[in-house]
Amino acid sequence: MAIAKDTVVQFHYTLKDADGTVIEASHGNEPMAYLHGHGNIIPGLEEEMAGKEAGTEFVATVSPEKAYGQRDETAIQRIPAKHLQGAKKWKKGMVAHVETDKGQRQVTVIKVGKFMVDVDANHPFAGKELTFEVKIEDVRDATAEEIQHGHAHGIGGHQH
Ligand code: ZN
Repeated sequence: MAIAKDTVVQFHYTLKDADGTVIEASHGNEPMAYLHGHGNIIPGLEEEMAGKEAGTEFVATVSPEKAYGQRDETAIQRIPAKHLQGAKKWKKGMVAHVETDKGQRQVTVIKVGKFMVDVDANHPFAGKELTFEVKIEDVRDATAEEIQHGHAHGIGGHQH
């Protein structure tokens, strides 16, 4: 069956940046599963998935606008080091959690001072053109429960 709204898709992928460097890959793990038509994956990849069937392999290059958006330079902030959660000592490039009034956010440490730390709250893939090499493993109808929850269950999906 072809991928359409309210189908659950299992797929393997390799994600590369514009230089061809592998950023992430699902191979060696369970395939990733998502509920199509519910914004579970980035828009650019969901568009490419539509209409394809199990066994199909394809390569899709997705612009930042259809992936994680452009970088927001105002998302770089200087905050007290004691507000960072996740490690005792901080170094450039480490990922920390910070409590904000909008809940917990993930930030990347870009500069460490004695008491203050510069962090970047942009998504690590913001501003990047992303290339996905995809192999579709399985396509099935979603259950009523999956549609109600808005996500896939089972292998590669949500575990309740
Ligand atoms: Zn659920």
